[in-house]
Amino acid sequence: MAMKITEDCVFCGSCETECPNGAISPGKDSYVIDPNLCTECVGAHDEPQCALVCPGDAIQPDPDHVETREALLAKYQKIHG
Ligand code: SF4
Repeated sequence: MAMKITEDCVFCGSCETECPNGAISPGKDSYVIDPNLCTECVGAHDEPQCALVCPGDAIQPDPDHVETREALLAKYQKIHG
């Protein structure tokens, strides 16, 4: 399951540099996560780094992008070769 950034985003940018997959970028009103690049940090870390550093608790699991751990790991390996 990819993570998503909610309307509680305060546009601080703390999450962008933490992502091992380059999945986070600034959008119009909030930062956004590309679900094709987000692996919930599977492959790199034990838990989503973006959610850890978010001061507003604005990063949550995205129920529209549910994936198994195996699928997330395969995605990570595809991204990083
Ligand atoms: Fe990037 Fe990890 Fe956050 Fe997904 S959970 S957007 S891979 S930092």
